[in-house]
Amino acid sequence: SDLSHIRNFAIIAHIDHGKSTLADRLIQLCGNVEARDMKEQLLDSMDLERERGITIKAQTVRLSYVSPSTGRTYQLNLMDTPGHVDFAYEVSRSLAACEGSLLVVDASQGVEAQTLANVYQAIDAGHEIIPVLNKIDLPAAEPERIKQQIEDVIGLDTSESVGISAKTGLNVEQVLEALVQRLPPPKGNIDAPPQALLVDSWYDSYLGVVTLVRVREGVFRKGMRVRMMATGAVHLVDKVGVFTPKLIETDSLSAGEMGFIMAGIKSVSDCQIGDTLTDERNPAASPLPGFKPSVPVVWCGLFPVDTSDFEVLRESLAKLRLNDSSFEYQADTSAALGFGFRCGFLGLLHMEIIQERLEREFDLDLITTAPSVVYRMYMTDGTMEELHNPADMPDVVKIDRMEEPWVKATIMVPDDYLGQVLALCTERRGIQMDLTYAGNRAMAVYKLPLNEIVFDFYDRLKSISRGYASFDYEMSDYQESDLVRISILVNAEPVDALSFIAHRSQSEYRGRAICARLKDLIPRHMFKVPIQAAIGGRVIARETIAALRKDVTAKCYGGDISRKKKLLEKQKAGKKRMRQFGKVEIPQSAFISALRMN
Ligand code: GDP
Ligand code: MG
Repeated sequence: SDLSHIRNFAIIAHIDHGKSTLADRLIQLCGNVEARDMKEQLLDSMDLERERGITIKAQTVRLSYVSPSTGRTYQLNLMDTPGHVDFAYEVSRSLAACEGSLLVVDASQGVEAQTLANVYQAIDAGHEIIPVLNKIDLPAAEPERIKQQIEDVIGLDTSESVGISAKTGLNVEQVLEALVQRLPPPKGNIDAPPQALLVDSWYDSYLGVVTLVRVREGVFRKGMRVRMMATGAVHLVDKVGVFTPKLIETDSLSAGEMGFIMAGIKSVSDCQIGDTLTDERNPAASPLPGFKPSVPVVWCGLFPVDTSDFEVLRESLAKLRLNDSSFEYQADTSAALGFGFRCGFLGLLHMEIIQERLEREFDLDLITTAPSVVYRMYMTDGTMEELHNPADMPDVVKIDRMEEPWVKATIMVPDDYLGQVLALCTERRGIQMDLTYAGNRAMAVYKLPLNEIVFDFYDRLKSISRGYASFDYEMSDYQESDLVRISILVNAEPVDALSFIAHRSQSEYRGRAICARLKDLIPRHMFKVPIQAAIGGRVIARETIAALRKDVTAKCYGGDISRKKKLLEKQKAGKKRMRQFGKVEIPQSAFISALRMN
């Protein structure tokens, strides 16, 4: 069948290089959106995404483009992809649904770590890639130099690249022409048994579960009964259609096209991403190649500040999970924090986003424990257990050996800051794999324990490079490691939520750092408060918080009642985020800040 009028493409870029702005411009140029409906960043639909300026869920839009050179009308299906390392997995799914990519590179910044990570994924997906140099309106833009850099670092031919300003719209029409002239149309047969790849699914409070599909063969229509080939579940299709970005119902979705299918599905967990949809009556012979499932790599505990909020937290997590099947949670209890949940995330940003959504959308006050990676414990009885929570680590005599996850990290940084970056990697037990230069930028490839980067590696990297370093990582493997659990005792009481796992070589240094930090974080009490770090029964570090005698309101001289009241109220508000441990109160901020290094 003739699919020569269709082009399916993704936009890939390092964060902030202008993906979403370009998507907006393309949508506008194709006349899909009335000027009055036009607001910045059309595709970043969640408030949080808009505020943080990042794209979380990959989004797809159908555009109708009339090419001035041929006079022909094309159907363009655009996928905007998330740029952050945590969501690399969503990028790979989006790419599998397209034949080509627009590689957007900021002409004033050049190639960054996620530019590389994304472009390699696009090459793996067999994409035709069109380099787009963005932000040429900026005085600091150097498109010619950056083109050379793309050739040197990535090995991509840039002779037919397009220089644009997504902001002003300059040359954006050339991007549309390049798409129709240089990307191949999809392959597929409209008359074959229907076969579609399930790219994504999410829960909409009005519509229920929406699945995003790329149709490979045949035609999908309303009223058809579709079978999910991996799970075997059969559903009656109520609606098919596309986003323009508004949701529009269509009669059908056929080979080569992308769009949504709604089929009375109850939960996102019934839709396995990467599954193949087919017609129950006229099934495809075999499923399409799927995806590896995403695995949470960072875990932390979430506990309600107000213990009576536990049920609300449970319901809120269930609602969020409807929309985001990549995070996991299970009930957890802590001697220190009471009832809560242990939650697993794709990375730190993902973790922050979920926490923030819980606090904002569900109005919850939460205590978050420090993030931890998943360790493997090989027990003396021959079994293997995963350790998601340092507090659950059994007695060391039961453990034969432990392994921790490592990542392969790519860091791009200007020469001037390279020394500090390499020192940071060494301090974090990194092993250098490669170090190359492109102009005055260095590209360092390191193997690093994930444990060493989950907490503040990225912040430190940004600060020592004044924001110029970029960073990307992928999971590598598990390796045996000499790991110990460090327990924290406040006023001689162990605070389970503060315990953490570290490499033995760093245990003393980290134990001392956390005690010193807690000394500043825990307010003074009417008595002396000793703080200790210990491995098993052996104390490796200690600090003491001196006793306090003064009454907080004393400095009001008893006179100004309203001021006194305000002060007490302020203290009460602060208390909300405090937790009582024996006789000592520990503020919520301590749980996160305490384990931050340096
Ligand atoms: P994304 O993270 O790749 O989606 O990037 P955005 O589209 O959100 O853009 C990041 C920032 O760069 C925003 O502040 C945009 O307004 C700005 N920006 C995008 N394109 C251009 C451009 O062509 N010129 C200039 N000067 N700024 C741009
Ligand atoms: Mg964006």
